[in-house]
Amino acid sequence: MRSRSNHLIRTVSTRTYSLFIVKNNLDYILHTKHTEYMSPLYPIIKKRKRHPTFLNRMKQVAEIALPTGSLNQTFHYIIDTKESELLGRRVLVPFRNRFLSGMVIDLLTLEEHQKQKNKDYELLEIKEILDDKPIFDSTMLRLLRWISTYYMAPLGETIRAALPPNISPKSISALELLHFPSVSEMEKLRRKAKRRADIVEYLGKQKKATKISTIQRSLGITINTNQIEELIKAGYVRYIKDIETQVKIRTENAYKIIPTLSDEELHKILDSVEKRAKKQYQVLTKLISAKSDYILQSTLLKETGATTQVLNTLIKKGMIEKSLLEIKHKTEEAGGLASRDEEELELTEEQQNAVEAITQAVDDNKFKPFLLHGVTGSGKTLVYMHAIRKAINDGKSAMLLVPEISLTPQLIDRFEKVFPNQIAAIHSKLSDGQRLDEFNSILRGEKRIVIGARSGVFAPLQNLGLIIVDEEHELSYKQDKTPRYHGRDTALMRANFEKAVCVLGSATPSFETMANALGGKYNLLEIKKRADNAVLPEVEVIDMLDAHKAGKVSGAFSLTLVNEIIQNIKNEEGTILFLNRRGFAPVLECQSCGNIPVCKHCDVTLTLHKKYKQLRCHYCGYMEPVKPSCSECGGEQKEIGFGTQRVEQDLDDILKAEGLTPNIQRIDLDTTTKKGAFRKILTDFAKGKTDILIGTQMVAKGLDFSRCTLVGVINADLQLFIDDFRSSERTFQLLTQVSGRAGRSKDRGRVIIQSNHPDNPAVINAKTANFSKFFNYEMHSRKQTQFPPFSRFCTIEFSGKDYHLVCTASRFIFENMPPDESIIKYAPIEPYLARIKDTFRIILPIKSLKNLDVSGAKLRRSIKTALYHYRQIDSNKVMVKVDIDSYSIV
Ligand code: ADP
Ligand code: ZN
Repeated sequence: MRSRSNHLIRTVSTRTYSLFIVKNNLDYILHTKHTEYMSPLYPIIKKRKRHPTFLNRMKQVAEIALPTGSLNQTFHYIIDTKESELLGRRVLVPFRNRFLSGMVIDLLTLEEHQKQKNKDYELLEIKEILDDKPIFDSTMLRLLRWISTYYMAPLGETIRAALPPNISPKSISALELLHFPSVSEMEKLRRKAKRRADIVEYLGKQKKATKISTIQRSLGITINTNQIEELIKAGYVRYIKDIETQVKIRTENAYKIIPTLSDEELHKILDSVEKRAKKQYQVLTKLISAKSDYILQSTLLKETGATTQVLNTLIKKGMIEKSLLEIKHKTEEAGGLASRDEEELELTEEQQNAVEAITQAVDDNKFKPFLLHGVTGSGKTLVYMHAIRKAINDGKSAMLLVPEISLTPQLIDRFEKVFPNQIAAIHSKLSDGQRLDEFNSILRGEKRIVIGARSGVFAPLQNLGLIIVDEEHELSYKQDKTPRYHGRDTALMRANFEKAVCVLGSATPSFETMANALGGKYNLLEIKKRADNAVLPEVEVIDMLDAHKAGKVSGAFSLTLVNEIIQNIKNEEGTILFLNRRGFAPVLECQSCGNIPVCKHCDVTLTLHKKYKQLRCHYCGYMEPVKPSCSECGGEQKEIGFGTQRVEQDLDDILKAEGLTPNIQRIDLDTTTKKGAFRKILTDFAKGKTDILIGTQMVAKGLDFSRCTLVGVINADLQLFIDDFRSSERTFQLLTQVSGRAGRSKDRGRVIIQSNHPDNPAVINAKTANFSKFFNYEMHSRKQTQFPPFSRFCTIEFSGKDYHLVCTASRFIFENMPPDESIIKYAPIEPYLARIKDTFRIILPIKSLKNLDVSGAKLRRSIKTALYHYRQIDSNKVMVKVDIDSYSIV
């Protein structure tokens, strides 16, 4: 009863002109217990009848997605439809005992609402519309719904993931007492609503704004939004919005001369001012010289030494005007890493063919997917540039997605050079404020080209004509937390909904994509030759076991590689060395008892970081100092294996012995945490200040330096024996990509791959850069084992502190998934990382055969059913994560 009548009051009170009605009805409702009020909508309807003003005031029901964590939950609220374009705008709504921000995703009539929700659904009014204009249009909302369905993620969380981080006020969490009721008021309040009286009394004692959660705890009650609303309306308290930690648009006051003043009038003003007020005179001359431009307050005050008082006086006199300008958050200086305007290059024949096919498709205004399969250095980037140019010339917008790791300053500079000031770059190195700036400039249509990592796919571009997904095979396109969407697949879906062209580019396409292209689902474009007449590098594989036997190894280096490096230093050419493992050594082993220090919280060995004299866990961040001897037996410890730090130090020693002191630079997670560090390292290498770059995956991707003529792969096998059906594919991709960094100019590059398994198909075929041979070989075994692309591979991960509960949960789901001929499920397994941060993990692998379940609907239904049953008995102690199209079982 309480909430329903309150709801009515809120409905009315949002408008000042109907205040008297509020009062009347308030009394009426508080004193009636009539059953007709059982229908939540009744009061509104009734009021419309009684008060003609309400007839014109259209109220509607809005479906709102809230980030509440539960699947399939959207909520209905009343919204004022005098506002148009409500879809895709964020709103603040009361939810349980707090306020949440969500998004309007649909509008319904009362009848539709009643059909969907049951009778006693509490229909409340939204509190505030947060955006002036929609953030997402109906196509984007459709995309977000698709993600939510396909990846089985709550829509509210999906929307949150699509928005720049921390822009929505999360909750209103504190109350402040404005005015303490008089004794008689208090008495009345206590009679009417004891809870509310308690709250006021409590706040009176606190004498400061207090968190709602604190009030609840202290009084042992739950406060609902209705009670708060009532207290506010009575004028006793006010909300404090908890948005301090959120990013805001930065604004600053700025001033300019009143534009309507003529020159003559300006002179008169200046003359009159000069004698009396020097500061006013200075401000005016400054603003006059800026003509019609605004000058920021801070600049103005600094340069003239005036005070705000002076500015206010001038405003009062009608000489200048003030406005609030949006200021951008500071960004890194771009430029410098692009050597030329590439658009001026003449396209090769293969490039030309690709560009023609794509631009033709852009003209057709239809969804059309392409796979651009071009060897490394084939000039795919140039194809992208021409395709984007076409979209822009046609008045459309364009998007280029790249893996986070290859969203390098160099790439952005290359595009900036061709499309100056037209690019919005979205990546993880931006601050929240910078992201918001980029998002807004896209929303306003100021920037029509987006270059972004995975989440760039949500950029609110209008009239999207083209989406390019570069390095489409990269695993980093898959998001590893809810919503677990795949950036490439989402891009294809968005292009589909937007009727746009989608180009997937790679030198080493994923098997899924290649199978789709060969099967005719995508249009295949190929570039087989390197651009600029450069040839593919000469690749040599060194059998490290043989080299060891022959005594031709020094530390992690074969002598062949050492000699090549020395040669390169003498020629003053650049060398890149690749090792996919950071730190100094992967393990420290006791020579007498064989003990290896492991992480206290995870089932992994600790990595030695020699420089810091520490052992570190790369999974949870745990660190401990290196002990002088084995903690088990006191024996002597030896460093086993190599990380980038050790390779750097060893190489330095080897070269010093040869009388060489080149500049060596390491590039991995440990050396690039500082802002701008990555850019500096790359610039130094491009300019020849650095001779040798040693790095993890960071060097494998997208770098294009003509001075790099030698690439060395320290250990090709690191990826190969990970227990994952994609490990061979990954190895082939990595080796091919790293090799592609060599010899991107006229000089033929050289690549040396060191491996203990030189006969492995991934290694052999990477040597000859023979994609199709490797593809055919691997596809054969994928087919036999029914792994992707022949099936959809999914996992359900169970994790928790209690191993037994985790096991039970996984068995329960396994047994309760209704069988279907399209589903192959496997008994739960312990993954390689069975424990991380003191949390146990169990994984349930599932394959869903694509030919029997095209959309994946059968799979989802089966999982949902099992989850539904599980929730009935759930202890809440086990986390269950469903990962559709999973890319990891380690
Ligand atoms: P990919 O992305 O296919 O690996 P890039 O786009 O980075 O290759 O191109 C490799 C190099 O070749 C770049 O320096 C690029 O400027 C150059 N290049 C591309 N196309 C041409 C062309 N048609 N003529 C001359 N140089 C080209
Ligand atoms: Zn750990």
